[in-house]
Amino acid sequence: MDKIRIQDLEVFANHGVFPEETALGQKFLVSAELYTDTRQAGKTDELEYSIHYGLVCQEITKYMKEHTSRLIEAAAEGLARQLLLSWPLLKGIRLEIKKPWAPVGLPLKTVSVEIERSWHRAYVAVGSNMGDRRAHIENGLRVVEADPAVRIVKRSELLETEPYGGVAEGAFLNGCLELETLLTPTELLDLLHEAENSEGRVRTVRWGSRTLDLDILFYDDEILDAPELVVPHPEIEKRAFVLEPLAQIAPYKRHPVSGKRVFELLCALKGEE
Ligand code: ATP
Ligand code: CA
Ligand code: CA
Repeated sequence: MDKIRIQDLEVFANHGVFPEETALGQKFLVSAELYTDTRQAGKTDELEYSIHYGLVCQEITKYMKEHTSRLIEAAAEGLARQLLLSWPLLKGIRLEIKKPWAPVGLPLKTVSVEIERSWHRAYVAVGSNMGDRRAHIENGLRVVEADPAVRIVKRSELLETEPYGGVAEGAFLNGCLELETLLTPTELLDLLHEAENSEGRVRTVRWGSRTLDLDILFYDDEILDAPELVVPHPEIEKRAFVLEPLAQIAPYKRHPVSGKRVFELLCALKGEE
């Protein structure tokens, strides 16, 4: 991806573990690579299609001066998040904060922390088969959307489906969402659990009745195998109630393991019926 690079912006600010660092302040050098597509700006010569690096420099300076972190790790994390939230054309950022006067008591040029953060695309399955199913889903999604680090960019319809696995009783409403998020997969799962809990989800038996179920289907093209988080969700290929709504919003998305597209998985499953 194209980059706009800011190198060694000098800011006098008060981050540090030692009291004298927060009291007296010191010099920081901030470098940023802003990942963005500059094609449109390049073709039209119009600033509105790009990221105004002058304003970004001002925002960096303001952030660094207004916050006091003990660690430059924390300053970098907060600053990267703020920039990613405030600039719609910014897809990702590499951010480095150097401390040339780090109080180490030994001669060194700089100490620095460098992080890379970006927006990620995730697909989430939504289901409910208890009480006011539509209300549980809408309320749960409001909890998810209340986090500024999550944006719901597409929603399928909610489809009526029969219970799966022979445990749950009432019919389900099932749907899928496409999200853009700054959260890691684990943080996203925690947020989804929070939304489930806010709708009074009780975990008794697997596949049992539930007020709200939110599962991560895909997270970029990542493959994760921890028991508490398997991505892509291991049951996608077997579930028409996932593939039907998913095919409404992402028919051409490829499963990162099999390489098959969502609509192909759906056709294959229907062919088996
Ligand atoms: P299934 O995952 O087969 O649809 P379920 O949704 O009924 O079953 P839950 O009781 O909601 O299962 O979740 C059990 C645990 O599954 C969660 O606490 C979570 O840690 C784990 N889990 C693993 N992979 C995922 C994933 N991709 N999305 C959501 N939860 C997952
Ligand atoms: Ca589920
Ligand atoms: Ca679940």
